[in-house]
Amino acid sequence: VIPPAEHSIQLDSISENAISVVKTICAAGYEAYLVGGCVRDLLLGLQPKDFDVATSATPEQVQKLFPNCRLIGRRFRLAHIYFRRQLIEVATFRGAANEENEKHVADDGRILRDNVYGTLDEDAIRRDLTVNALYYDVNEQTVIDLGEGVKDLEARTIKMIGDPATRFREDPVRMLRAARFSAKLQFEIEPETKGAIFELADLLENISSSRLFDETKKIFLSGYAKANYQALMDYQLFGSLFPQTQHRLDAASEGIESDKKMLDIGIHNTDLRVEQGKPVTPAFLYALLLWPEVRYKADYYHKQESMSKKQALDVAGSEVSSLQLTRTSLPRRFSLPMREIWSMQPWFEQKSKPRVNRLVCHPRFRAAYDFLLLRAEVGQADKALADWWTQIQEQEDIQELQAQSKTKNDYRSKSTHRRPRKKRRNSNH
Ligand code: ATP
Ligand code: MG
Repeated sequence: VIPPAEHSIQLDSISENAISVVKTICAAGYEAYLVGGCVRDLLLGLQPKDFDVATSATPEQVQKLFPNCRLIGRRFRLAHIYFRRQLIEVATFRGAANEENEKHVADDGRILRDNVYGTLDEDAIRRDLTVNALYYDVNEQTVIDLGEGVKDLEARTIKMIGDPATRFREDPVRMLRAARFSAKLQFEIEPETKGAIFELADLLENISSSRLFDETKKIFLSGYAKANYQALMDYQLFGSLFPQTQHRLDAASEGIESDKKMLDIGIHNTDLRVEQGKPVTPAFLYALLLWPEVRYKADYYHKQESMSKKQALDVAGSEVSSLQLTRTSLPRRFSLPMREIWSMQPWFEQKSKPRVNRLVCHPRFRAAYDFLLLRAEVGQADKALADWWTQIQEQEDIQELQAQSKTKNDYRSKSTHRRPRKKRRNSNH
């Protein structure tokens, strides 16, 4: 236990909602602490992304204390407490599996369900990294370190708690997390942990596509895409998320250098957009990351099977995306725009007035144009053509046209009758 005078965390740098959640739970007679990334980031002088709470109260007990609470998750049951602009995640202390709950572990060592509750000490060793297993006691203002968290934080080391191979077998996503945190914090991964990643990366194949989609978003859309991409490459994990792209990069086919450059620039731009507070979407991200394979296949169909450029792109896009979605899922509201971004590329080659007018009003014009700029930057599209489309958007009549169609589209999307989404049952099976 580290007293207030010996660590750098100030109460006023902690979200008031998080403090009130902890205090409410404690007042009801349970134990509760801030835990994980927020404690780690506060100790490093970084602004935490979110605040997580660990408690001795069960999710049901937590729910009774907060009207604004929902229980989520099957594999790992959690209480979410909603505030106007913030969500506080409350997890009950996890305990070690014993004979009685052995069936929660699959043959390959994967934990299928992790809802066995335990004590603070047990909870700490169930967490992934030593630097993620630090607790903050709001009432005493102390930091609780049951392992080597503070030591590894000072040494700037990413280290798995326990035997890395066992922990990665329990949950292979921890490999992606280790790579992600090493990139974000610029920490070195400890050798044994690193070795286990190289050895066990293939286990990510067993992870559900929706969980890998969540992880992909955290990797590429939270402001550290460039560093994360490099880490995925260094630890040979990128191919587990985007196998077709990895294969295409390895095959070193024609024009691959321009593909690599386009990925680098596009990924860097994503970080810039996040930094500038601009929106980023999985649709554009996937369009970018899958492009090397889509381009390769489309080129083949166009040249070898004499399809039109548009048709070749559509076929290639559909093949590549359906295979990808078995690995990392992508909701339709993103996969359709992703495919439009590809399909629209040949349209930029047609500069007749009616076609131009139609294209600039397309809801995906901006994204497809940004994609064209990337292609032009690496020599996959004509630079003069890209410039032409840049200039055309400065014309008053074009801007007016776009404004009109935007109002129309907004009106249409508001007035179309939507079936209310079915509420998903939050059951335990
Ligand atoms: P950030 O929120 O900044 O991305 P974080 O460390 O808070 O980082 P979360 O995904 O919010 O990460 O998880 C909160 C905590 O839960 C982690 O710090 C870690 O202690 C624990 N945790 C999360 N995922 C796992 C996992 N797959 N295996 C073991 N522990 C995990
Ligand atoms: Mg967190």
